[in-house]
Amino acid sequence: MTMPCRCISYNRPDLNPLADRPEVILPRPSWSSRERGICVDACIADAIRMLWAHGIITAGCCCGHNRMNPSVIVDERDHALLAIKLLKEQDGRDWHVQQWRLCTVHPDNSATAVPLI
Ligand SMILES: [Zn+2]
Repeated sequence: MTMPCRCISYNRPDLNPLADRPEVILPRPSWSSRERGICVDACIADAIRMLWAHGIITAGCCCGHNRMNPSVIVDERDHALLAIKLLKEQDGRDWHVQQWRLCTVHPDNSATAVPLI
C-alpha cells in the first residue's frame, strides 16, 4: 500500500491538512527552456525524473494530493504508451497518462479535435 501523499498543492494548499512537503525543483531537462528548473510534486519527482531519463517530454504533472490518481501530460502518442509501461513497471501507482492534442477552435467557441494520423 502506498503511503498517503503529504505534498503541498501549489494552488490548493487547503485541501490536505497533513501536507508538509513542498514542491521539488528538478533541474531542467535538455528539451526545456525553463532555466530555473521544473517544479513537481515531491511524491512523484522520482517518477517524472525517470520518464525524462527515458526521453519522454512532459508538459505537466500532478500527484493528485490523495484526491485523484497521479497524472502526467505528454505531447506524443509514442511517449504516452511508453510512459504507461514505465510507470506501471517502476512506480506501481495507477497513473493517468494524458496527451495534448491539436484542435481547431471555432468562432462559436466550440472546438474540433484534429484526427490522429
Ligand atoms: Zn504527492
